Amino acid sequence: MINFTVGPVQSSEAVREIGAQNVPYFRTAEFSEVMLENERLMLKFAGAPEGSRVVFITGSGTASMEASVMNLLTSEDRALVVNGGSFGARFCKICDIHGVPHDEIRLEVGHKLRVEDLPCGDWDFNAEAQRSREAEGGMRCCRTRGYTAFLVNKHETSTGVHYDMGLISRYCKEHGLLLIVDNISSFLCDEFDMAALGADVMITGSQKALACPPGISIIVLSPHALERVTKNDPKCMYFDMKDALANQDRGQTPFTPAVGTLLQINARLREIAAAGGVAAEVQKAKAMAEYFRSRIADLPLEIVSESLSNAVTPLHPTNGMSAYDIFLKLKDEHGIWICPNGGELKDKVFRVGHMGCLTTADYDKLVVALKEVLK
Ligand SMILES: *Cc1c(COP(=O)(O)O)cnc(C)c1O
Repeated sequence: MINFTVGPVQSSEAVREIGAQNVPYFRTAEFSEVMLENERLMLKFAGAPEGSRVVFITGSGTASMEASVMNLLTSEDRALVVNGGSFGARFCKICDIHGVPHDEIRLEVGHKLRVEDLPCGDWDFNAEAQRSREAEGGMRCCRTRGYTAFLVNKHETSTGVHYDMGLISRYCKEHGLLLIVDNISSFLCDEFDMAALGADVMITGSQKALACPPGISIIVLSPHALERVTKNDPKCMYFDMKDALANQDRGQTPFTPAVGTLLQINARLREIAAAGGVAAEVQKAKAMAEYFRSRIADLPLEIVSESLSNAVTPLHPTNGMSAYDIFLKLKDEHGIWICPNGGELKDKVFRVGHMGCLTTADYDKLVVALKEVLK
């Protein structure tokens, strides 16, 4: 099989070799060293500001989305959540469950975030327009609505829309909003600089571009986010970040983590450091994405996102075929996995990923198979 899904993705040989070994005992100085190095490298690769920390959660990416909401936000907050697909909807659901007041910014499938989608976004950029809107009794500046936090999935993987973090960053700085970024599928695929953006939380997971097995998700916390963690008392033991941080001080976790996956993450982070760091990783994902996109130009496939990430290409077949049937045919007849969509998009959209160990030769095989299937 060749795997072009959006996770789990194909791992390097070094990562796979670790997976073949027995999992070692972990309350040791040796494992602590590995965890402290994991933290150092994650801080560096996220571009985290001085004084930031990292929490490693045993659980998939969603666990870290939920842990972030539980530890950073309370019923006293008011969050704005970008909801452009199933991952945005997930953040809304988490806020609902944990009693965090929130408003969603609903975006149509495939649409990017525009300044006019932000409550009084053009207040920042066009005070004139805002004044006339208020004069007409329209929406008032959101300062008066008391927003405190902004939640976004930088890359809404379900639809392949990559949001403009520059716009979001400016908006959050202007309004003093805590910025929580689910960067799960975009980390290492697109540029991201936590310090420059003023982001307070960055979340990623082991099975996306980190190209390890699923099981670990990672939360990078800015000093401002850490202050909130210290103040809050989540009604949960397993996801209590205070406990996780106190343990991580000595390279440990409160409970048995996915030890093997953390060792694989260490190998992968070292691999990235040795091969030129994040910039080289982003360049590789970009090269793969561009290669694939250039090779399908004459196929009956339409790219359905206004703003693409290097991580994924979302495609709609224009020859009337069901996107899900294309997924099944590639899997069953060609030994190739692409990523199907669920819900309303099941028959309309499939996605091709550019994460993990893939080569242009792999994409050549995919294009040949696609030509065959789409005939
Ligand atoms: C993959 C992904 C997640 C996490 O999903 P899990 O199945 O919980 O790992 C969250 N957000 C985005 C944007 C993702 O791509």
